[in-house]
Amino acid sequence: MLGTLRKIVQEVNAAKDLKAALGIIVLRVKEAMGSQVCSVYLRDRESGRFVLMATEGLNKRAIGKVSMAPNEGLVGLVGSREEPLNLEHASEHPRYRYFAETGEERYASFLGAPIIHHRRVLGVLVVQQKEQRKFDEGEEAFLVTMSAQLAGVIAHAEATGSISGLGSEGKSASDTRFTGIPGAPGAAIGTAVVVLPPADLDVVPDKSVSDIDAELALFQSALESVRADMRMLSDKLANQMRREERALFDVYLMMLEDSALGGEVAAVIRTGQWAQGALRQVVNDHVQRFEMMDDAYLRERASDVKDIGRRLLAYLQQARQQSLTYPDNTILVSEELSPAMLGDVPEGKLAGLVSVLGSGNSHVAILARALGIPTVMGVVDLPYSKVDGIEMIVDGYRGEIITRPGTLLRDQYAALVEEDRQLSRGLDELRELPCETTDGYRIPLWVNTGLLADVMRAQERGAEGVGLYRTEVPFMIKERFPSEKEQLAIYREQLEGFHPLPVTMRTLDIGGDKSLSYFPIKEENPFLGWRGIRVTLDHPEIFLVQVRAMLKASEGLNNLRILLPMISSLHELEEALRLIHRAWAEVRDEGTDAVLPPVGVMIEVPAAVYLTRELARQADFISVGSNDLTQYLLAVDRNNPRVAPLYNYLHPAVLEALQRVVNEAHLEGKPVSICGEMAGDPAAAMLLVAMGFDSLSMNATNLPKVKSLLRQVSLAEARELLGRVLQLDNPQVIQSTLQLSLRNLGLSRLVNPTGILQS
Ligand code: PEP
Ligand code: MG
Repeated sequence: MLGTLRKIVQEVNAAKDLKAALGIIVLRVKEAMGSQVCSVYLRDRESGRFVLMATEGLNKRAIGKVSMAPNEGLVGLVGSREEPLNLEHASEHPRYRYFAETGEERYASFLGAPIIHHRRVLGVLVVQQKEQRKFDEGEEAFLVTMSAQLAGVIAHAEATGSISGLGSEGKSASDTRFTGIPGAPGAAIGTAVVVLPPADLDVVPDKSVSDIDAELALFQSALESVRADMRMLSDKLANQMRREERALFDVYLMMLEDSALGGEVAAVIRTGQWAQGALRQVVNDHVQRFEMMDDAYLRERASDVKDIGRRLLAYLQQARQQSLTYPDNTILVSEELSPAMLGDVPEGKLAGLVSVLGSGNSHVAILARALGIPTVMGVVDLPYSKVDGIEMIVDGYRGEIITRPGTLLRDQYAALVEEDRQLSRGLDELRELPCETTDGYRIPLWVNTGLLADVMRAQERGAEGVGLYRTEVPFMIKERFPSEKEQLAIYREQLEGFHPLPVTMRTLDIGGDKSLSYFPIKEENPFLGWRGIRVTLDHPEIFLVQVRAMLKASEGLNNLRILLPMISSLHELEEALRLIHRAWAEVRDEGTDAVLPPVGVMIEVPAAVYLTRELARQADFISVGSNDLTQYLLAVDRNNPRVAPLYNYLHPAVLEALQRVVNEAHLEGKPVSICGEMAGDPAAAMLLVAMGFDSLSMNATNLPKVKSLLRQVSLAEARELLGRVLQLDNPQVIQSTLQLSLRNLGLSRLVNPTGILQS
């Protein structure tokens, strides 16, 4: 059965459009089940009726004509009950309805299964037979499994049809909505530009070719291009790398020679394999051999071979992105957006971002919020490869995109974009004003930064310091670890940019979803694996170089604070402190007059919540990373769109943990701040102030909104609201309580900007 299922799904997957897909489904299911009829009814989104869309066995002239409401007929019953229905005498069922057009009166038995995708009923799959008989359990199970498998395929084909301008019934479709997860607030109207993922050798299939010479020529030209790239890269980095380091490029060039990898791939091509497949075979063989070696140096060479393989594949697939043109109001769409993709868009052209994978707390979403670019993540049903060049709306407030918008929606969104622009212009006036509640309580608002560009944006918005500088960002945009000197220059810019305001630099926080191309970490469970401080304590050479660079950069400025990520036990803090003291002693020995900066601990892991008091005793300050803390407390992957509705920092367990951290840190007399995305949510910020956080650190885009709200409420009101919220046990109820309270205070526009849109 599994084999039949797989074959049908594969065939349907390869169909050119929805109509062809449905045709294959009814034909193959009828054959596989040996029934006389198989039909698919799809639910029309507008009318809600189930329309006969394909059939084998019924009168084909009825296709598109026969339809029934959810409360009509057996098909309607299956669709509305969302359960299979297996009947021996269909016509005796009270819900039976006869349609003369179909000629179905001849069929006595009926088996129907709903087609459900992401909790949405898409249609009903039906088989019928002349004899009066009940389909057996195995047949019922087959049909149910079939429709579960087909749901995704149909949803995809339907979406693709709407994208190309055709609805399921061949009508022109506009305003097709795809739901995702809010990534960065704001709305944008623009043109989609699809960025394909970088070449992936592991998914290259085998394929035989007849024109071997043409294949060899293709491979030779890819070899030449990679050789040229290597030489160029080596020259470019000539004065940034030592001679021994540059020898790596010679190794690469040697590997490409005919006597090495180049020749081996050509030999496989000569057996009739296409170039991509031959490359995959040869590279994988080498990688496996290297990875099994005892010598650590040789084991590391596996990643060089992989890198060469990727580079060759990119040329073979001509998958390089440099030919992309970016129109004004570009909406960048990708299966998985990466920070590097944003960097490729010329300044001023990027209006919105859409990612099929990832969630609101993926790092690319955090970056988008910092840059103020409306973003929707986790749009899992979007046939992204089909949307290039079409107009779309990105609604980053609701986490929704709309393809080919009609005039009405376009006008509504244009009004929203304009209103946002005016609101942010109004907020600019707050820049010089302090963040002070109406009853005189002062709370510093800090920013989270990563790029140098953030310095200017932060200052424009009146930030009073940097609560989190994500140092991994400059590491991510390099092709190797930046040297101490390079790091020093980057950190100096940040420290000078904000001087005399404090700048909190977090030590390298890689792992999880943040990887460095030149230091890949492959793990089954990366968020529970080698992350943050765990990596840097295992690599003191990386940690020491970074801390030395920070200390040297702070000479004469003295506004540096160091922050340690992912701490889960005291000995990690002690070890890190020991290394920081060592780096400090070293730079002083070298003549740098740096003061020992305050060192803080991030509370991101439940264990750290319970150790706050002990950690606070040894550290100079505490900073809560609510993004990770929420993920780990609720056991909800911050990147996984499937569980995104469960990820909520307003969950009572998170709120209780936050209150506990504040109380414990204060018992040790240490200041406590929060630098997760929660601090940038105006409504949540009100609760955080009431909890007693000493400062809030957020993205520059949201800072004025938070300030505006906090300047319009009193500490007493915030405390009263917190008291009420802490009595509640449901995150959604907490959310609506916050919204309602803010509406009563006349502040709803700051927290519910889409209020002006008609649903
Ligand atoms: C956090 O986890 O809340 C945090 C600020 O760190 P990051 O988002 O970079 O993991
Ligand atoms: Mg974190």
